[in-house]
Amino acid sequence: MMIKILTVIGARPQFIKASAVSRAIQNVEGIEEVIIHTGQHFDDKMSQIFFDELSIPVPKYNLDIHGLKHGSMTGRMLEGIEEIILQEKPNYLLVYGDTNSTLAGALAASKLHIKVIHIEAGLRSFNMNMPEEINRILTDRVSSLLFCPTETAMKNLQNEGYDHLDLKTFNVGDVMYDTTLYFSQLVNWGSPILERYKNQPFVLCTLHRAENTDNLDRLRNIIKGLNEISKSVNILVPLHPRTRNIIKELNIEINFEIIEPVGYLDMLGLIQNSRLVMTDSGGLQKEAFFLEKYCLTMRDETEWVELVNNGYNFLIGANEELMLKMFNEVFDKKLTDGKPLYGDGQAAEKIVTLIQEYAS
Ligand code: UDP
Repeated sequence: MMIKILTVIGARPQFIKASAVSRAIQNVEGIEEVIIHTGQHFDDKMSQIFFDELSIPVPKYNLDIHGLKHGSMTGRMLEGIEEIILQEKPNYLLVYGDTNSTLAGALAASKLHIKVIHIEAGLRSFNMNMPEEINRILTDRVSSLLFCPTETAMKNLQNEGYDHLDLKTFNVGDVMYDTTLYFSQLVNWGSPILERYKNQPFVLCTLHRAENTDNLDRLRNIIKGLNEISKSVNILVPLHPRTRNIIKELNIEINFEIIEPVGYLDMLGLIQNSRLVMTDSGGLQKEAFFLEKYCLTMRDETEWVELVNNGYNFLIGANEELMLKMFNEVFDKKLTDGKPLYGDGQAAEKIVTLIQEYAS
């Protein structure tokens, strides 16, 4: 039987996850994948570069929806995806993670009785103020095949009673681990930014999460902390366009280097060459660990609790003093012998095999 999967992606971390799964789909017979790009992330540095570098199949549809409030964005996506489902008549609709594109895809499909596959299911921050937390809870609940990246995610679903629901949950490991393993072999070490930061110790930092960028006190504290740390070591920040705009608007003083977002291969090179990662990103917390770097996370909680419980990652919130204290504690330390917390690098293959098994 030919299985048709309609995949909905729209944001940077989803392109990175999709690269592993789309490759695994292409390596088997019997599955046709049709991709919808919602347009949530749209500029070249947040979108096109990943399609080029990571060989993600070209989306058949691009809804070009971005820059709106949560409600309008999700609503318009819902409408667009519904039309495409009716035309394409897929067997499954596949979504990743926790963005508005994820929720719109899951809702549109489930209302049309199309089974939803959720990759990166079961994650919880237990902070309902995060739009991502709302998106992931609702998406999980309407999905039929839920692929969890960790044991913790499986337990979260159990605790919410998912064992009693008509759906399947699996711990397959994290597709981002697959992607890191695959593409860290392909880094171009001669690229301009990697050349420039080759022979100097530096901290790699990213900052984009709404809870930090939309809260002025938090944003100012974090930048104060980074300015302070930058007195002793260079900090390099490939900055998300949203954060860049806010910082510019508020005219906040910055004493470290901000650059445009970089492609994934440069990112993997920068992580490897860095001494320490500081971030509020979900994906980067794990990539730091995969590439044996400690991570200071500028959030009050994380979905990747196993990193914190094992002492690879430290939650520093938006607290300037804690930032400095933890920076001083871990900057010279080397992370070695990390436990295998995220599977064996074959998550995408396992997902594809399970989809085939359940479709037959
Ligand atoms: N990333 C990238 N270039 C950058 C910043 C991040 O390729 O300039 C990658 C990063 O390595 C990770 C993903 O983007 O794989 C994380 O995306 P983001 O932080 O936007 O989202 P989150 O993971 O927090 O959902």
